[in-house]
Amino acid sequence: MSLQRFLEINPVDNFDGYYSRYINDNSFFGFPLEPILKAEEALLNKDLTSIAYFSMEYGLAPSIYNTFPEKGDLPEANMFRRHDVFSNMRGLDYFLDIRLDKMLDLPIYSGGLGVLAGDTVKNMADLGMSVVAIGILWNKGYFKQNFWFRYGQLPEEMHWDPWHYPGLIPLNKEIKLDMRNDTLYLKLWKYYVYSYDKRFVVPLILLDANIDANIEDLQRLTDQLYRSDNPWWKIYQRVILGLGGMKALDDFQYEIAKYHLNEGHAAFAFLEKARGKEDNEIEQEKKNFVYTCHTPVEAGHDRFHINDLRLVLNDEDIFILKQLGTEESRPDMINLTLVAMNASTHINAVAQKHCWVMHNQFPAYKDRIIAVTNGIHTLTWVSEPFRNLFDKYKDVIGDWQKDPTCLKNIANLRHNQEFRMDLWNAHQENKKQLVGLLWRWGLDENAFTLAWARRIAAYKRPSLILRKPERLVEIAQKYGRIQILMAGKAHPQDNLGFTFIRELMDKIDALYEYRQYIRIAMLENYDTYFGKLLTNTVDVWLNNPLPPFEASGTSGMKAILNSVLQLTTLDGWVVEAEDKDIGWIFGYRDETNDASNELNLRLDEDADALYDALEQVVQLYYSTNKAGNVDINSPWIDKMINAVCEASFFNTYRMVYDYLNRIWEVDKAFATA
Ligand SMILES: *Cc1c(COP(=O)(O)O)cnc(C)c1O
Repeated sequence: MSLQRFLEINPVDNFDGYYSRYINDNSFFGFPLEPILKAEEALLNKDLTSIAYFSMEYGLAPSIYNTFPEKGDLPEANMFRRHDVFSNMRGLDYFLDIRLDKMLDLPIYSGGLGVLAGDTVKNMADLGMSVVAIGILWNKGYFKQNFWFRYGQLPEEMHWDPWHYPGLIPLNKEIKLDMRNDTLYLKLWKYYVYSYDKRFVVPLILLDANIDANIEDLQRLTDQLYRSDNPWWKIYQRVILGLGGMKALDDFQYEIAKYHLNEGHAAFAFLEKARGKEDNEIEQEKKNFVYTCHTPVEAGHDRFHINDLRLVLNDEDIFILKQLGTEESRPDMINLTLVAMNASTHINAVAQKHCWVMHNQFPAYKDRIIAVTNGIHTLTWVSEPFRNLFDKYKDVIGDWQKDPTCLKNIANLRHNQEFRMDLWNAHQENKKQLVGLLWRWGLDENAFTLAWARRIAAYKRPSLILRKPERLVEIAQKYGRIQILMAGKAHPQDNLGFTFIRELMDKIDALYEYRQYIRIAMLENYDTYFGKLLTNTVDVWLNNPLPPFEASGTSGMKAILNSVLQLTTLDGWVVEAEDKDIGWIFGYRDETNDASNELNLRLDEDADALYDALEQVVQLYYSTNKAGNVDINSPWIDKMINAVCEASFFNTYRMVYDYLNRIWEVDKAFATA
């Protein structure tokens, strides 16, 4: 019976040929089927206020969390087996690589925005909310990064097999969009995101243009995330997400009360509601839209010329967009951020600081822009040793898996000597995992270890710590060895990003002579797997964006949850933890919240500030950890405790509740009462 109902809702393509092996009355790829039916019924129920969440990318990381036990025959294309390393050990890198044999993560994300969307959806499922998520099936993912020794990054087109990916199902359902010059057909796929206790799910609908019904140019639209050869391409991708997403919701007959636009990419969704309506009716529709803005930089807002929009959209759509998205200074352009802001009653910035920046940028919208600080999904990013630690002290902490805000109770364990020792040991256990993976590069678990890993962008200042290598060597010679791990991808069409990676490699290689003091390894293909590995295992997480350009940042939140200390500039989420003593803050502090200026990266002054701070950090580290003999009463351990306490706030559990109460303002969003 259950299977029959499931197939009525989801007519699975090639069910008998393949998927029937993994889906039956009780089981969906090894997880229970029943929560899927419950979630689908809730979305059809008019009496609930269901939410549709739109995002261009989703980083769900099934290789590290909620891995379907029934994996089927994973084809080679869906595995990831080796990663190169670029280190200051020269010859070694040519002969060695890291072997992992891990499942490829669903390749429909590029970085922080996607990871946030994935974490958000997981937490909505944890809370049993009635939500459907909408995204795009990127047939060639984002891209695969190959190191091209000493010369930088060589981007490679990614090939994966969506037809044999655990939990992902193709549907015999196509929707049709009549655009100005073409008819676009989209195939629908579904993926189910389970709650931590497997009692609830959030369905994720993925739209795919790669089907025979489309002319060839249109088929390629859903190849590669953020491929932006020309405006036509970018506009069409936004049409797919916004208009395609609305059509798909209709096709499933879901009863949606609120449309949540994660970033302006999905702003065209509003067109579907505004077409053929009078002004007062359009005003009414706006009450159902909310918008999360992630961009602090002017140039980061999507803008399209009217003439380019005319290649895709009809005159009525363009008329509506002109009403919503015209900037005074550029009458021929449509700004999608403005469209999204004008189409929504509630707008949120992703941190307090970002909210001030937005108020400065859009003074006319000040009353409607509030801050909902980003978070991370605790159970995805907590390491095994810390999970065990929190469970061991559950009597004091509380049910942290259900409600991670309990982690603040760890403050009550501050003076418990056994806890302090257990905390340190849990950290060392994590660190041993890193050292073990890179053992051939000769890492030492009792040597001070720091990581910088993120998307390569100018404002994030990737090579700041290598700016004056002689200072680094000096600190290491004085106090003890310094180990540095790095990772990051540059967008394939970003020449500047390419240059940064090359510069990093040159600087790393130049430290060959000092390898007994400084050991640096850069890991290929930064993804959620390495994101978790690095944030969980190092001693210190380095975060050095130029304020105020980091809207929030989330990698540091993954680190504090695992008691990894922050060495950071004062920007993004960090501003909200400034006085919590979770590490060290250094460098330029902007007071103006003005993100419209040309980038003056302040590299020299901030590198000096970084080295001054680092000297204190390394000194304290080696006075705490004396070749494996740890001083359990060191202030280092107090900072580790403070860090975990702050993880009680910087999580998606708290964030999704903020969405519920402060931007959706609904009271019946739960699938179960
Ligand atoms: C967490 C994460 C990010 C976001 O980190 P930032 O601090 O915003 O730079 C990006 N990429 C991956 C793979 C991540 O896991």
